[in-house]
Amino acid sequence: MKIKCILCDRIDSIDSGTLLAKNLRKKRVMSYMCDDCNKRIKEKTEQRIATGNFRVYREKKKDTYI
Ligand SMILES: [Zn+2]
Repeated sequence: MKIKCILCDRIDSIDSGTLLAKNLRKKRVMSYMCDDCNKRIKEKTEQRIATGNFRVYREKKKDTYI
């Protein structure tokens, strides 16, 4: 089946027998990211963690209650 990446609009074709394809068919709202975008997001996240600017949601929430 053909699937469009939500970030770069690249059309990928994936094996319709894979778990990913089954999930995408079942949950129509589920978004797909291609390998390149996945990698980019992952690198960005790791960079943020490395610089110390990364905060998990729970920490953020606690700060807003001051
Ligand atoms: Zn992409």
